[in-house]
Amino acid sequence: MDLPSYYDPGALVSVLTTQPIDRLLDYRAPEGGLAQGAFVQVPLGPRQVMGVVWGPGQGNYDASKIRAVTKVLDVAPMRDEMREFLIRAGDYTLTPMNAMLRLATRAPGLSDPPSMQKVYRAGAEEPDRMTDARRRVLDVLRDYGGLSFTLKELSEMAGVSTGVVKGLVTQGAVREEQAPRDTPYPRMDTDRHGKPLTDSQAAAAAHLERGMRAGTYGTTLLRGVTGSGKTEVYLEAVAACLAQGRQALVLLPEIALSEQFLIRVEQRFGAKPVEWHSGVTMTERRRAWKMVGQGQAELVIGARSALFLPFRDLGLIVVDEEHDTSYKQEDGALYSARDMSVLRASIAGARVVLASATPSLESWANADAGKYDRIDLDARFGTAVLPEMRAIDMRNEQMQPGRWISPSLARAVRSRMEKGEQSLLFLNRRGYAPVTLCRACGEQISCDHCDASMVEHRFLKRLICHQCGDSKPVPEACPKCEVEGKLAPIGPGVERLAEEVEAVFPEARVAVLSSDLFSSARALKAAIAEIAEGEVDIIIGTQLVAKGHNFPKLTLVGVIDSDLGLQGSDLRAAERTFQLMRQVAGRAGRADIPGEALLQTHQPEHPVIRAILSGDEEEFWRAEAEARRAAGMPPYGRLAAVILSASDPQAAFAAGQELARRAGPLNAVQAQVFGPAAAPIARIRGRHRVRMLVKADKGVALQGAMAQWVGQLRPDKDLRVAVDIDPQSFF
Ligand code: ADP
Ligand code: ZN
Repeated sequence: MDLPSYYDPGALVSVLTTQPIDRLLDYRAPEGGLAQGAFVQVPLGPRQVMGVVWGPGQGNYDASKIRAVTKVLDVAPMRDEMREFLIRAGDYTLTPMNAMLRLATRAPGLSDPPSMQKVYRAGAEEPDRMTDARRRVLDVLRDYGGLSFTLKELSEMAGVSTGVVKGLVTQGAVREEQAPRDTPYPRMDTDRHGKPLTDSQAAAAAHLERGMRAGTYGTTLLRGVTGSGKTEVYLEAVAACLAQGRQALVLLPEIALSEQFLIRVEQRFGAKPVEWHSGVTMTERRRAWKMVGQGQAELVIGARSALFLPFRDLGLIVVDEEHDTSYKQEDGALYSARDMSVLRASIAGARVVLASATPSLESWANADAGKYDRIDLDARFGTAVLPEMRAIDMRNEQMQPGRWISPSLARAVRSRMEKGEQSLLFLNRRGYAPVTLCRACGEQISCDHCDASMVEHRFLKRLICHQCGDSKPVPEACPKCEVEGKLAPIGPGVERLAEEVEAVFPEARVAVLSSDLFSSARALKAAIAEIAEGEVDIIIGTQLVAKGHNFPKLTLVGVIDSDLGLQGSDLRAAERTFQLMRQVAGRAGRADIPGEALLQTHQPEHPVIRAILSGDEEEFWRAEAEARRAAGMPPYGRLAAVILSASDPQAAFAAGQELARRAGPLNAVQAQVFGPAAAPIARIRGRHRVRMLVKADKGVALQGAMAQWVGQLRPDKDLRVAVDIDPQSFF
């Protein structure tokens, strides 16, 4: 498309706003004119809203009523590459453009004028008197080594009044300075060298560097067991990218964005990279957004939404732990950050590195089909070897009721303790017990707003719904039959497992790692550091421990319930279990002591359990791929889901039935429709949910047909329609 690059004052321009309006709006260019792609503030009714100059005005309004752009924001205009990315990502996910623009402008205060502000950083003096509040302020400043904060940020992060900070300023313990609001980030030093690489690491790095030099799009799957040095290798590709003067983005699952990782990057390049995730302060977000757009931020380490930053010259995207389910956004715009990375890179002429110990079947198949190259790192770095993996057949274990640690596992833990080594007991269930049952009437306590059972959290002394987050105190009496004292926990969560561990190993030092048990990221970090230093004998953990943390003394992993993930009817149940179990097992034996992983299971002959134990990953992928191919399922066929929700269950069903009757647009592309059926979780937050599933051949352009099909529904205030292309979850 040929667009003018500049509009003179008074010229008509069309503006895409962030507001939910399904068309572009015409405005007049202000005094001084404006650039194509300029970010602007425009009047809309009584309000001022943000938008982007999308092209020449359409001129189909009464010219005398067209208003002028209020102001042009002081940020780099949107580049053509970004515009094309948003259009194509929106088309692919069937997300309206204004929602795409909101994803691309997730930084507050972009319309504020550039200005100076007071910032606060650590000072040289000690305060005369140390109070709790003062210590918290100084801790925050120390934790963020050298960073400065606004008064509001600092007092909020420390949980103190602004007066406490001001008091520390008078004492010289905190410095108050004037600073420009948004400043460039320090340069990355690409002359520094990384660690000397092993031969296979060097070969992998050279492969990626060659790709970088080609200057064209390409995707590489970097598969390597945990600890094989994938990070070392892809940092070499980052170095090559930065040395070319292009920008690089490393995506990590939010939970793996650890301090450890950032320090590692800083050591490699001599400066801190830009961080982009939910923990970044508002001021830093705006600075990051602007500087990325001006090319004054070279390397961004971020969670999935960093993909929508306005890079000026993006040369490389690394998607670490590419199989991780958190790359799929399950709320609002339903996109897969992994797939969208490939799209963005193909538009930008950039490289993609997908790194994982256990790739998604999608990526494995793309490599298998030759669409991606693939590099394998098969050995762990140095002396570390992969843990030995064995099943504990629970059918042969003498289990007492209410106990989940088998005698065999207990013996193994004890022998590790005697050697001063650590054990991890893995159970992917937060809370005390997944179900609370009344022994008098059989009632199971469930959420008032969702079809989900309430999970008891003893630590918090509440029942919590893991769907909507609602909570209530644990009642004395059954809400149904009102009999007192008969409510009983059923099944284990990590908190209950901790009780068992205390009973079985009274002398052990125990830590429970579960996301809900920590009040702040800092508290979690402290717990992780304690474990790494060997202050703990037994770690009890959920999914939280499966990722990225390095515990050198950890040599035994016991999986409490390996069958947990195998039960669902989910398309990816086998794949997910395989990935999670291999990943958790990979925590053991990272340093010089060999590790061991024991999987408690009732079905040791299950093909997935056998594949996990045998370690023959290719065999597992090939078998899983064959099964999917035979069933015409992704990645060999296409799926799309529609989730209809309404406060009235009949309304949701009726809409589904109407869609089922009017399947013409789908029939035209030979797609099949299933449903409507009540969703597995049929009610969330008081809204009744109905699902439909569409299945098509791989080559079918499904989006157009889907849009036409769903577009037949009459708009209705109560009915919400979400379309999920390539659904990952089916709840
Ligand atoms: P992965 O990303 O595959 O899990 P890492 O890159 O994190 O692996 O490497 C695992 C550990 O081994 C890290 O502590 C890393 O610093 C170390 N390591 C890997 N390769 C080398 C190397 N060539 N020289 C020194 N240390 C290395
Ligand atoms: Zn709920």
